[in-house]
Amino acid sequence: MRDSLLSDIHWEAYARFERAYLDADTCVQVREAGGRFLQFGLESIAPATIKAMKKGNTPDEYARSLANTTAAGIWNHVFFIVGYPGEPIHHVLPLFRFLTDRGRDVLTVKPTRFQLARRAPLIHSPPEGIEVMPEADWDLFINIPFQYTQSWWCRRCRTELDASAMVMKQGRPKCASCNSWAERWAPLSRKAVDGIYTLSEVLCERHWSHPATSLFPYVARLFLSEEEMTGFADRLPRLRTVDDDALGQALVKVRGALAREAEMIGDIGRIYAQSSLSVPKSFNSYDDFLKHCMAWTDAAAA
Ligand SMILES: [Zn+2]
Repeated sequence: MRDSLLSDIHWEAYARFERAYLDADTCVQVREAGGRFLQFGLESIAPATIKAMKKGNTPDEYARSLANTTAAGIWNHVFFIVGYPGEPIHHVLPLFRFLTDRGRDVLTVKPTRFQLARRAPLIHSPPEGIEVMPEADWDLFINIPFQYTQSWWCRRCRTELDASAMVMKQGRPKCASCNSWAERWAPLSRKAVDGIYTLSEVLCERHWSHPATSLFPYVARLFLSEEEMTGFADRLPRLRTVDDDALGQALVKVRGALAREAEMIGDIGRIYAQSSLSVPKSFNSYDDFLKHCMAWTDAAAA
């Protein structure tokens, strides 16, 4: 009696990528205890961002946790963040590949723009690369407004310049090591973040389950089997959330940001120089962009 009652209870939860999910048996136990749907904050697979966020995980652990829970019959949702201060757009490209390659182990996926939540610990030591609005103006905000800040860069040396790496000439800074004029720049801008966010939305609408999950009430995911969900996803019409205009603009913004990063950031420029890859002259479609995500991930890993 007690057992059958318990087995009728299905629950969902926000979850952390705890190492326990690396054990397949634990995931089976979670499922047997009624767990049907877990929502994970994956946020990023860029090593530098994972470190800055103090996540304490590796991309490989994310992949194994998602595979184990899926194999046990638990649906997953994955949140990720675009626009983390200081994270070049290039560092987001492997995430597009990850979520495309591992898509079957993820039921739904949702991007968010980086936000400074008012009560979050982060607010007391905001990451570098942003400027936070003065505290006196915070009254009506849940998320604190900020700007991406530009610093000085040398295009020839492909590096950011701090004060000691510059000399002043006619009131303007020059790179102390190569004598080129310094330029104001930042790896991230609102424009670049808007572009990559729109492409993230396309990633979501292309996701295998989107026809079903975008249509059903949320609670359906606690009761549908894999066969049912897959069947619905195959049969229902695919809804588009991003129109051609918005997609076209996003592809231009992101391509521009990638070209500029290759020109300004030494580590990124070197990967292009050492592989046969170049920044495309244009992206004609989302698939074109995705192809570059695939190729970039290989080149960066070589
Ligand atoms: Zn220089």
